[in-house]
Amino acid sequence: MPSLVRQGPPLSHRQASVGMAATMAAAARARALRAAGHDVISLTLGEPDFATPPHAIEAAHQAALRGDTRYPPVAGTPALIAAVVAKFRDENGLDGDAQNIIVGNGARQIIYDALTAMLDDGCEVIVPAPYWNAYPLIARMAGAIPVFCPCAMQDGFRPRPEAIDALITPRTRVLVLNSPNNPTGAVYPASHLADIAAIMRKHPHVWIMSDDMYEHLIHDGTKAATMAQVAPDIADRVLTISGISKTYAMTGWRVGFAHGPAALIAAMAKIQGQTTGGVSPLAQAAAHAALTGPQARVAEMRATYARRSARAAEALDAVPGIVCHRPAGAFYLYPNIAGCLGGRFATDSEFAAALLEEAHVGTVAGSAFGLSPHIRISTAASDDELDAACRRILEFCKG
Ligand code: PLP
Repeated sequence: MPSLVRQGPPLSHRQASVGMAATMAAAARARALRAAGHDVISLTLGEPDFATPPHAIEAAHQAALRGDTRYPPVAGTPALIAAVVAKFRDENGLDGDAQNIIVGNGARQIIYDALTAMLDDGCEVIVPAPYWNAYPLIARMAGAIPVFCPCAMQDGFRPRPEAIDALITPRTRVLVLNSPNNPTGAVYPASHLADIAAIMRKHPHVWIMSDDMYEHLIHDGTKAATMAQVAPDIADRVLTISGISKTYAMTGWRVGFAHGPAALIAAMAKIQGQTTGGVSPLAQAAAHAALTGPQARVAEMRATYARRSARAAEALDAVPGIVCHRPAGAFYLYPNIAGCLGGRFATDSEFAAALLEEAHVGTVAGSAFGLSPHIRISTAASDDELDAACRRILEFCKG
């Protein structure tokens, strides 16, 4: 067996720019500790803890039996595309037809397709911070430079329109928006999007990539607003992204989709055609069933996440040194831990690492999302696990 650590031919600069996502690293360490026999509660990953709806599984089964097992069209099967056209029209008020839609292997691939299609070397991408860490990583893979727009907790973790304006240069090519937000759960109301749109009208050279993955998980059940709907006059430079991973608890099926101008969608399809090709027709059949079938479970899951988040936030408020905001959506808490630093720990990374090693609670340090000192806690876990985790955090901080 040749040694795997041997120095081989060089690896690319591009791969070196990617880096290991800290969420994955924290999850891997939590798994390793559990495998070593420790009682670990891992609240590291943003993964719904519900099962795939049975009718989606049945649809995939039937598609396989039907022989729907050949290469699919790159941009999506006609049936799923039609369902996605209807979804964007009915839920988001976005007009369009098949040429405005692409289906990818999860929203992550849609984002890869989009940033690769939009960005040249040296372009700048404005990313409100804290952010889902894939945006800067994928932007760098596309040769671009992420430029962060800090969003303070006292601003509800929403970017100030004038701060976005101040960051835009002739090199800016993309503004990323993500509401409801990972990692804060912040939701941008329509009025806030309208204020951002007013800025973006001054900068017609900038695309807007609106990642609406958590659109159905607004805790009070209100409908999410999205940029292309709020500002239809600039919709010709907006890509609106959603998917089935979070809404239907179908992370492993790897289906995401987007609505955008036809030229952008065609460019993204070219890129997808040379990377993964189309999404598995079985997964697309399952996604079609999820989109067009009964929706009652979505409301149930949303109510469950809302209840858990409120309960865990309350428990964390009792922890000395921690200040927990109340998220409006998604399934994360992003408490400020400034009051826990200065003694044993200098940074949120040190705090999160010790919390995992000593109290066996897996969280992700805010430094991974570009805004410290915070930790991200996924509330996609059972009540018992969340209660126990909060008790352990309390003991750890008193400790
Ligand atoms: N967008 C956001 C904001 C996310 O948090 C995630 C997953 O964590 C994704 C996109 C990826 O979704 P998918 O599973 O469809 O690739």
